[in-house]
Amino acid sequence: MAKILIVDDEKEIRGFLRRVVERLGHEAVEASDGVAALDVYHKEEIDLAFVDITMPKMGGIEYLEKIIAEDPGAIIIIMTGYPSADTIIKTIEDDGYTYIAKPFTVDLIEDLIGRGLAAREQKLKARK
Ligand SMILES: [Mg+2]
Repeated sequence: MAKILIVDDEKEIRGFLRRVVERLGHEAVEASDGVAALDVYHKEEIDLAFVDITMPKMGGIEYLEKIIAEDPGAIIIIMTGYPSADTIIKTIEDDGYTYIAKPFTVDLIEDLIGRGLAAREQKLKARK
């Protein structure tokens, strides 16, 4: 079982992702902004995170930069309802795992969780 962090200021999005995560047998942890999410990341062993770009206090790109600086093997999936070339480029430059546009399907999320967790395992193995 993996621990998956869901960071979004929209309750409906968090609920949707939580249901997919739990149906796959994983544990979901939620945060509604980047500051709260940073706190969760420091307290819990997070295997993968879904992170919204536009949030109060701290947005997803700033959060991504902070997490990758601390844990280069972190798997961060950036989400947005307003895709733009700028944020796609920032996600790639900052080593985000991938970038997805809302609304997304259950199939896409399930596939990303599977691939993301495998990538996390590879990165942890490579570090040893
Ligand atoms: Mg938002």
